Amino acid sequence: MGAKIIDGKALAAEIRQALATQVAGFERAPRLAVILVGDDPASQVYVRHKTAAAAEVGIQSETYQLSPVMTQDALISFIVELNENPDVDAILVQLPLPPHMNAAAVLDAIHPDKDADGLTSRNLGKLFAGYPAIKPCTPLACLALIKSVMPDTEGANAVIVGRSRLVGKPLAQLLLEAQCTVTQAHSRTRDLADVCRRADILVAATGRPGLITGDFIKPGAVVIDVGINRTAAGKLTGDVVFDDAVKIAGAITPVPGGVGPMTVTMLLQNVVDIFLKKKLAGI
Ligand code: NDP
Repeated sequence: MGAKIIDGKALAAEIRQALATQVAGFERAPRLAVILVGDDPASQVYVRHKTAAAAEVGIQSETYQLSPVMTQDALISFIVELNENPDVDAILVQLPLPPHMNAAAVLDAIHPDKDADGLTSRNLGKLFAGYPAIKPCTPLACLALIKSVMPDTEGANAVIVGRSRLVGKPLAQLLLEAQCTVTQAHSRTRDLADVCRRADILVAATGRPGLITGDFIKPGAVVIDVGINRTAAGKLTGDVVFDDAVKIAGAITPVPGGVGPMTVTMLLQNVVDIFLKKKLAGI
């Protein structure tokens, strides 16, 4: 029997519908500032998806398209202005930034209470310390997709291939909180296939197309493919060899249509949560 295909688009649509209903009851629309530095075509597509999805649930977004040659200091000053602007509830800086900029330093200029992506050191630090935090969108998306097919993750062996600040590391923390036994694999891991074969939950977040072949997968495992790679023919593909994995896994996310739409939805959820927290604080 083939694996269940986890439909990220359908799950995302369900959550967006609920968010739209929630936002319709607010006295004003939550406001999101999106900063796009440069003219990277993939980043432009991601930003368009995010702003269209925001509009769909009633979040008002404004995109600031900034010059690829601006200095890091100028970008940070721009972010500080948005921090101080009471009309802006949440801020997102689209990654990657131009090579002359230090992404971590730029992200850390965002006020932690306006951090739509949950990627500032303050929010990541709170997450790792076990305090309430705004959490990063892709790890939240992975967790929601896993829970949609495995509601009880207690004691499950989870292997995450990848240890980035954006995906792998925060996801390990979320899975620990979900009572999994977590193994974090990376480019220096010995016998990756053997490590992966122990996984009840296997998450691939490497950006290496085809890295995870069928023989890496334990029969019945839940496989989450975070990778977004483009083939020479321009087709989108994940890190997992889908056609092999689907015959062995219990459930698997497709690329596209898996983690991507859920990541955008978790961003919208974060913006709504930020808005509600602000409202509760009477700001
Ligand atoms: P990074 O390049 O920051 O991190 C990649 C990680 O994969 C690193 O930890 C690296 O190990 C590890 N890795 C690389 N090659 C191997 C290998 N051969 N064996 C084992 N581990 C390996 O990428 P990101 O985390 O930012 O993104 C990962 C992928 O997810 C990309 O394809 C990206 O496009 C996609 N992505 C998708 C999103 C979505 O919404 N669907 C959102 C964000 C990212 P080491 O640390 O040792 O170098």
